[in-house]
Amino acid sequence: MTTALSLLKDVFGYGAFRGAQADIVQHVIAGGDALVLMPTGGGKSLCYQIPALARQDSGQGTAIVVSPLIALMHDQVGALHEAGVQAAFLNSTLSGEEANAVERRLLRGELTLLYAAPERVATPRFLALLDTLHQKRQLSLFAIDEAHCVSQWGHDFRPEYRALAVFHERYPGVPRIALTATADATTRADIVQHLQLEEARQFVSSFDRPNIRYTIAEKKDATLQLLRFIEREHAGEAGIVYCQSRKRVEEIAETLCREGMDALPYHAGLDTEVRQRHQDRFLREDGVVMTATIAFGMGIDKPDVRFVAHLDLPKNIEGYYQETGRAGRDGLPSDAWMAYGLQDVVNQRRMIDESPAAEEFKQVLRGKLDALLALAEATDCRRVRLLSYFGEASEPCGNCDNCLQPPAVWDGTEAARMLLSTIYRVQQASGLHFGTGHIMDILRGKLTDKVTQFRHDKLSTFGIGAHFSEQQLRGVLRQLIATGALAVDASAFSTLHLTDGSRAVLKGEQQVLLRESINQPAGRARRERG
Ligand code: ADP
Ligand code: ZN
Repeated sequence: MTTALSLLKDVFGYGAFRGAQADIVQHVIAGGDALVLMPTGGGKSLCYQIPALARQDSGQGTAIVVSPLIALMHDQVGALHEAGVQAAFLNSTLSGEEANAVERRLLRGELTLLYAAPERVATPRFLALLDTLHQKRQLSLFAIDEAHCVSQWGHDFRPEYRALAVFHERYPGVPRIALTATADATTRADIVQHLQLEEARQFVSSFDRPNIRYTIAEKKDATLQLLRFIEREHAGEAGIVYCQSRKRVEEIAETLCREGMDALPYHAGLDTEVRQRHQDRFLREDGVVMTATIAFGMGIDKPDVRFVAHLDLPKNIEGYYQETGRAGRDGLPSDAWMAYGLQDVVNQRRMIDESPAAEEFKQVLRGKLDALLALAEATDCRRVRLLSYFGEASEPCGNCDNCLQPPAVWDGTEAARMLLSTIYRVQQASGLHFGTGHIMDILRGKLTDKVTQFRHDKLSTFGIGAHFSEQQLRGVLRQLIATGALAVDASAFSTLHLTDGSRAVLKGEQQVLLRESINQPAGRARRERG
């Protein structure tokens, strides 16, 4: 039997396996099931391609690879052809005749690997093909790429993936390897459960991307901050700017273009043709900045993306990791930069509250959002936080904003108590709830029309927080909301409500530590409208 290493050399031209590849490959060749967690660019494809070759060499037939991305399937099959490997795909881009031809080759045993779209797998026609191969003992293995798509907690849930449990049920002796670049503990458990991989050996690689510098800046004027960041750090270089809405994508792309950058918009609302054209330009040309919703990126393999910027908060840490992971695949220094502010927290919480999902589901989403907020609020190493979320212990990295410029921290406990007691008093006095702006106005003693109208200048907390800047109070509110000590009612104009968690802060039992805002212009508070 040909050894795995000689296949690696002879077929792919590489001298050595990377990281866990060698162990994974051996395990699958020997017929074991595997769950592989490896960051993007880690080399997942070889983990099933080599076993496919080895097992075919020993007469065990064809490997079936499930991949959700047509473009990726085409790339892989093309690359395999170039390496002299017999591979083909079955997906919606083929005509009936072409698909028939692929099926005939499959049944004749001519293919080492067959790539298939997930929605095709559970069809009677496809299962009949698999049955035939199975009877002849010609199914060498199943590879399930992007396995996190099976989890509804993730950001790429694809219901068709649930049907892939059929591999285990129908062909129990055939080894299976599931692969993903994103998986926190919940998602991992979901993959195991839904794909019935309880017996699979898990191979977890380090998720560290040492060449990426993580920065999470406090949002002031996000557009201006973004412009400065690109001009200062990445002028003329390729990058991706993620925004939440299509409208914002368009606006930011226009602004960047006005500033002389080569920026293109990308979102699901654009014609397929336009999207394709923009994607091609991003991939082929140098220095294009793609301004996009998260519709853009999965399967994009551009090595020299120098920065990924987030103007809005991603949904959770997995999304953040996945999106920022598109930077620096070539291993050269790159930036993951995010601007984050109070409104982001409010918006994300609202989106969860307002979604029609079941309460149990929302709880999971809230937990995931909280973890991301904790990362954003962190005053210590971002990388340590990020990796620990994936269950990995590490030392401060020396290459994130907090390591490079340890933030000055101030004690916001007093301000937090003042804010909470103002909210309490306002509600006591008027039976009404108000939003962040009004509460801050009361505390800072601003006689706005609204304050006068509701006689909130008569409250005992009116003006007692005048020594705090709006910026500081905003930071306190953000952290109170992020930690659940304060709730925002999405269904009622984003008004603030006390929670069970408020009590500990009000009683002074819980400290609220905040980062001192850097770059805060002196006297800014005075220039704000009264
Ligand atoms: P992933 O699917 O994990 O994102 P890929 O399988 O696309 O990663 O591999 C990323 C890149 O690394 C590819 O260009 C691949 O050829 C290369 N690669 C993978 N394994 C090795 C290896 N052992 N030696 C050299 N290059 C490798
Ligand atoms: Zn660090």
